[in-house]
Amino acid sequence: MSAPVRIVIVGGGTAGWMTAALFSRFLIPGFDIQLVESDDIGTVGVGEATIPQIQLFNAALGIDEDDFLRATMGTIKLAIEFVDWFEPGSRYMHAFGAVGRDVGLIPFHHYWLRAKALGLAEPLGAYSQNYAMAMAGRMQRGPARTSRTLPEVQRAYHFDASLYAAYLRRYAEPRGVRRIEGRIETVDLHPETGCVEALRLAGDRRVEGDVFIDCSGFRGLLIEGALGAGFEDWSRWLPCDRALAVPCASVSPLTPYTRATARLAGWQWRIPLQHRIGNGHVFCSAFMDEDEAARLLLANLDGEPLADPRPIRFKAGMRKKAWVKNVIAVGLSSGFLEPLESTSIHLIQSALSRLLKFLPRKEMIEADIAEYNRQSAFEYEKIRDFIILHFKATQRNDTPYWDYLREMSVPDYLTDKIAMFESYGRIFRENDELFNDTSWFAVMVGQGMLPKGYDPMVDVMSNEELVRRMADIKSVIAKSAEVMPGHFEFIKANCDAMG
Ligand SMILES: Cc1cc2nc3c(=O)[nH]c(=O)nc-3n(C[C@H](O)[C@H](O)[C@H](O)COP(=O)(O)OP(=O)(O)OC[C@H]3O[C@@H](n4cnc5c(N)ncnc54)[C@H](O)[C@@H]3O)c2cc1C
Repeated sequence: MSAPVRIVIVGGGTAGWMTAALFSRFLIPGFDIQLVESDDIGTVGVGEATIPQIQLFNAALGIDEDDFLRATMGTIKLAIEFVDWFEPGSRYMHAFGAVGRDVGLIPFHHYWLRAKALGLAEPLGAYSQNYAMAMAGRMQRGPARTSRTLPEVQRAYHFDASLYAAYLRRYAEPRGVRRIEGRIETVDLHPETGCVEALRLAGDRRVEGDVFIDCSGFRGLLIEGALGAGFEDWSRWLPCDRALAVPCASVSPLTPYTRATARLAGWQWRIPLQHRIGNGHVFCSAFMDEDEAARLLLANLDGEPLADPRPIRFKAGMRKKAWVKNVIAVGLSSGFLEPLESTSIHLIQSALSRLLKFLPRKEMIEADIAEYNRQSAFEYEKIRDFIILHFKATQRNDTPYWDYLREMSVPDYLTDKIAMFESYGRIFRENDELFNDTSWFAVMVGQGMLPKGYDPMVDVMSNEELVRRMADIKSVIAKSAEVMPGHFEFIKANCDAMG
């Protein structure tokens, strides 16, 4: 039998332990897995909101949802509420799950646009079950128990990412992952191939490997520090470069959604957990200093702050290559997009599922590396453009920051997407692009965009039929939320961590 492939995971943040947990589930035997982390250095310590795909990750590990929510102080997330984005005083929700019902090949949003043109449409949220549940503070697993079968509720979670990493460590270690505590000081490269051969740790320890997964956070210890992959800077479109994070005391009700409120030079998140509310002010240092950002954050908390605001620095962008030689970057070492649509933990998860498909042995296959990097860049760029949309499509003209964003030119893909939407409401999802047409539509309309027209095929339906269908969807959705238990009651009954 050949010697096992030695995989070394560098870093024990959310990315490191997600990698360790997944590999411990799918790779042993045949692989020897070690994880190196340094308690002295610590983790980024933020990351609390997710998108529904995380359910797939947990399910792949066989994790019980209630156990996971209890261990991570988690709550349910059904949507993101955007406040003051289009203009001060505006609000809308990007809710998970379907909106309305498609008719044949025509997406629902074209029917909504026609009804809107006729003055017969309610706001978009009236046709979304997740919106109705979020507004009413409800939660239930499985489909709603009404006379009509509705699809399963689409949900994600709010949780403490450090507790999630600890939870996954408890999962991975008994399954064979070996943890090494220590600060990596230097990296040994093979003199001919340039591949990473070993890590040198404080105390004269050496950790050898065949494949290294760089989960070392922003610093990109191997991918950048040792192999110089290069960084593609996207700060001209996403100029925020700082955040201040602060937890505050909980208040009721326990809302099952994230809130993102636009501020004068950035935006503020609000994420309710079982034991506290996570808050943070993401801002652009070219337009606001840290003292003012802290003042604004502390003046806009629901409860007493539980700590001093903690500063974090970053730059929006992506590693030019996520995989170089025998090093694959996963997590913050591969790039960063501000957490407006809660996509970072998802990017870890999807990098890992891609990695399992392309998993290297001892020999590196150049074609695999190139295709992996192509898919990774595609995913990052499409999410980037969706996030840029929130800043570009605004009427705000109250500060130089918003003037800059409103006037900036955006990547070609987004320019084309906006042009196609503005004409006849067309939205196309390209290949495995993360956000579907329902998400794009919710944000475009929420940000005040409306197209000139809609798909002419919807005119086949009579006005009476259109009105009847729209009213029917609205009433089924409203009734479905009414019969569900409250989110707080759901947590108490199933996964209360507070005793
Ligand atoms: C302001 C902000 C808000 C965010 N909010 C969200 C959110 O709501 N939702 C979401 O999905 N994501 C969010 N994220 C992203 C999320 O926090 C990260 O994607 C996630 O925590 C993964 O981080 P990481 O494991 O890559 O890096 P880190 O947590 O930084 O971990 C790096 C690890 O590498 C180790 N390490 C580094 N150098 C060395 C060394 N020399 N020797 C040994 N060990 C070393 C460290 O000790 C640590 O264990 C947010 C990020 C920021 C900055």
